[in-house]
Amino acid sequence: MIKKNSFFMFFILFFFVTQYNFGEIPIIFVSSEQESLNKEIPSLCSEILNYFPLSLYYTKFKFHFYYDQELQITVNHYQQIDYPYQFVLDLIEKKLNNPELTIFLLKEDVFLAKGGNIGKQHHPVVFVSQQAGAGILLHEIMHALFDLGDEYGNRPLFKPTESEVSRYPNLTTVPDQPLWEKIKQEMKDPLLNYYAGGLGTSWGVYHSYPHCIMNQAQGELCLVCCYYVLKKLNQLTGLDWQLPEAYLYQKEQTNYQPKINIIE
Ligand SMILES: [Zn+2]
Repeated sequence: MIKKNSFFMFFILFFFVTQYNFGEIPIIFVSSEQESLNKEIPSLCSEILNYFPLSLYYTKFKFHFYYDQELQITVNHYQQIDYPYQFVLDLIEKKLNNPELTIFLLKEDVFLAKGGNIGKQHHPVVFVSQQAGAGILLHEIMHALFDLGDEYGNRPLFKPTESEVSRYPNLTTVPDQPLWEKIKQEMKDPLLNYYAGGLGTSWGVYHSYPHCIMNQAQGELCLVCCYYVLKKLNQLTGLDWQLPEAYLYQKEQTNYQPKINIIE
């Protein structure tokens, strides 16, 4: 009888190895090099975990590592990422069971990262090379997980359409946004304003702040981006962080240590 129960328990444990708990944010690193688990992944996880305002949700982030020798991701002559689409989609949906975010590490010796969504279910994915570093990775995570758009664009190269810009909550075509005004008042920050630039052009698109990781791929998120990141993380976790309390509560350096679970 005991043996039977043990077997049953083992079966349950085995079955649920890639099931995630409600309210948690599973992030899976996928690599075709096993040693990346001990090399770059721990420090990248640490950067994610200690980045404000993600750090407010540090108990909710669950990091996993999946090693796949067969995974072939390359960079072509145009600096675009080539990957086996169906293989990657099946991996995310069938093997990894739809994590909140999947980060594919590229072996290639280039400075490159790309974040977005794939498949009908819009799985957030980031492809990142070993050289890219934490700032670029976080910038791409903001694209993939929070739908934030690029805030850079110094020259009027083209004019994006209204519907293109409306896909990104941190950008606007109209320099009159009640929410931005509300955040400006609450945060008492006169720098929050309408700055031309976004999606790679300065023609007909505005972002809200001189500095943001969505602009320079380093440093902090701007207040408007922070607002949307809090909103999404509250939805995912059931916690309730709002501006300006989030800033008042935790703006100092944190040093949370990530635990990384290995998916067999
Ligand atoms: Zn921003």
